Amino acid sequence: MAKILIVEDNALNIKLFCDLLAAHGHEPEAVTDSRNALDAVRNFKPDLVITDIQLPHVSGLELIRMIRGDKKLAGIPIMAVTAYSAQGDEERIRAAGAQAYVSKPISVVRFAQTVAELLEAQSGRELAKTGDDWANEGSEDPGVDEPGGEKNPT
Ligand code: MN
Repeated sequence: MAKILIVEDNALNIKLFCDLLAAHGHEPEAVTDSRNALDAVRNFKPDLVITDIQLPHVSGLELIRMIRGDKKLAGIPIMAVTAYSAQGDEERIRAAGAQAYVSKPISVVRFAQTVAELLEAQSGRELAKTGDDWANEGSEDPGVDEPGGEKNPT
């Protein structure tokens, strides 16, 4: 289960995203006004942020840049959702710092898959970090290579 913050100004989309995420066992939280989004990220401490790009006040691109610009929040994966995919949009969204991009109307399968991939990648990074810490605590013994196992004939 992951905490997922949704920044979206459209009520129907909020309902759709929240229902979808809850159905996958996640804990969604939605912000309608993007001016409150950064505070919501700080307070809710989500494992993933899903943001619309076309938002009044603070655009999704600005929000992504603000999250990436904040040391404490910069590590949170971001998935962008956008209604228009003009040429260069995906590049701009990725350049701003989002890891993934899904276009509206969303495919439910693709949406869920992208969420799962981002969360998996994130927990992989956290495991790797823990692994490094653990390795760093180890002795100076470089370790002995395992003797080669049997080759799988297939
Ligand atoms: Mn919108």
